[in-house]
Amino acid sequence: MSNAKTTLKNEIRLVPAWAYLLAVIVFIGFQVLLGFAWRHTPNPPPVPFQIFIRTFPGIIVGFLVLLIGYVNQDAKRRNMNRTLWTLLVIFIPNAIGFILYFLLRQPATIPCPGCGTMMNPKFNYCPNCKFSLHPACPNCQHAVDSGDKFCPHCAHELVSVPARVNS
Ligand SMILES: [Zn+2]
Ligand SMILES: [Zn+2]
Repeated sequence: MSNAKTTLKNEIRLVPAWAYLLAVIVFIGFQVLLGFAWRHTPNPPPVPFQIFIRTFPGIIVGFLVLLIGYVNQDAKRRNMNRTLWTLLVIFIPNAIGFILYFLLRQPATIPCPGCGTMMNPKFNYCPNCKFSLHPACPNCQHAVDSGDKFCPHCAHELVSVPARVNS
């Protein structure tokens, strides 16, 4: 936990397994439904067009499902109402729910109290100036509160623990 950058990889990792499963189901559902519909059509469209019509909307809707999964997890990370936002992005048409979400979502980063660098509040130390956000006992590594004179876990004497920031 010493990398301040929010990488795309980390964002993608937020997408939960159920969203992937649902996206695959939706995609396959599109193939099956359209294939079924065309088998009962007297003059089905040409095959390349069929493949395009089958694949393209399936990918779009599958991607939207993944995005819904992302919003569901990301809202939790940002202390936002995840149920409300999940419903909003599903039911507000034309992806306006997603646009609203990305405009209104709370910042997941906080400025370092020591140097002002934007950082993840879950970090233990500022990656720029080593400011301790979650002071720990140097002897037993348990979390301690600023102002504690002795570690409540091992009685190790604590010298000037930096201020604790509540996130
Ligand atoms: Zn700092
Ligand atoms: Zn200790």
